[in-house]
Amino acid sequence: MIRLKYPFHKIDRSSLWQSYDYDQLQQAKDKLGITDAWVSYSWGFSEATEQDDYQFLRERLVHFRRLGIRTHAYVQGTNLVWADNQDHDYYCRDHRGYLIPYHRGRKLTCPNNPAFREYIHSKVALALQEDVDGVFVDNMHFGLFPVMLGKSRSTFFGCRCDYCQQLFRQEVGSGIPGLFHRQTDLFEAYADFRVRRLMNLVGELADQVHAAGKVFGTNSFDPRFDTRLFYGTDMPQLAALQDYLLFENHSLPSTNHSNAYLKPLVRPSSTPVFVVSYNKGIGREKHYSQADFDAVYSESQMLGYVPCYKASEYTTKRVWHNLRFEQIQPVQRVEPRRKKVKLVENSLPQLPGGRWLSWLFNRMYVPAMVRYYENKLIRRSMGWLYYRVAR
Ligand SMILES: [Zn+2]
Repeated sequence: MIRLKYPFHKIDRSSLWQSYDYDQLQQAKDKLGITDAWVSYSWGFSEATEQDDYQFLRERLVHFRRLGIRTHAYVQGTNLVWADNQDHDYYCRDHRGYLIPYHRGRKLTCPNNPAFREYIHSKVALALQEDVDGVFVDNMHFGLFPVMLGKSRSTFFGCRCDYCQQLFRQEVGSGIPGLFHRQTDLFEAYADFRVRRLMNLVGELADQVHAAGKVFGTNSFDPRFDTRLFYGTDMPQLAALQDYLLFENHSLPSTNHSNAYLKPLVRPSSTPVFVVSYNKGIGREKHYSQADFDAVYSESQMLGYVPCYKASEYTTKRVWHNLRFEQIQPVQRVEPRRKKVKLVENSLPQLPGGRWLSWLFNRMYVPAMVRYYENKLIRRSMGWLYYRVAR
């Protein structure tokens, strides 16, 4: 998995092999108070490729049981490893018929595609056979993310595969457009259709997991953006269908960042909210200091969310490794480090508009993403730019 995402990093393999060992988990429980663990089950490779992973997990689940840590089997959501899954056409298409990339080596899959729905139900059914307490489906969003172009237009978003076209025509009586004009009935109708169809799949998966007597949740990414427009998800529906909400963002508490903007989503909800916060993000995240752990713990107590840590995706001095529990002391409550408080902005990413610029951005959106994910030099320079300019 790491080799597919980041082919050039050095990897401390032994730290990863040991991550589900009893003594490692005991330290996680003693020092960080771990109650739940999201354990790797299926990352979107084929079943043949993943056989060793299933066996690895199966042999170690007993350690979690002995320590009373609940386990949630991780199943990849609406994307698959392209090289391993070309036996069926599970995939989204943009307005020009292109497959849509999801990071390196993966393509987005369509929630309206019957073959993909069958696929994900069968993966969840496999996960349910293991001695886990729940199933977690990651990266649950529908097709391409929209970007606003000026005030009135957005890039193409979602999916325009044959299944989507056919269903949208049946339900709305019109084709899915290429460039969306925001102030039109068609824009609203498509945004609603996208949410309705994705929530339909989440509802089916929730029913499947609950029927087995296990808990269910998905990754809702960062709700700083309008989730209905950006991801195609509806927060109240997710809270009703799932046993918890889980957000993933770049707001590791510091003097410049905090999760206070999540307050309106955390407080009124009776559904538990887990938050995974990064500083720089996967592939660029060095091991947290004790002050980082203490800050996350303290902020979560103040805001009412449950802190969640990535265990295996730290890159310190260019080496990929698991959390080093021997370096961590039991977390303690400290004064918040935050200075800024931002409430949920509920917006979309913005680019300059104008008719020809919009046409150009829309045309380049997917091909540029492919170049970005598949080209090491472009990716590194854009990562640098993001960190220097966008934050
Ligand atoms: Zn589609």
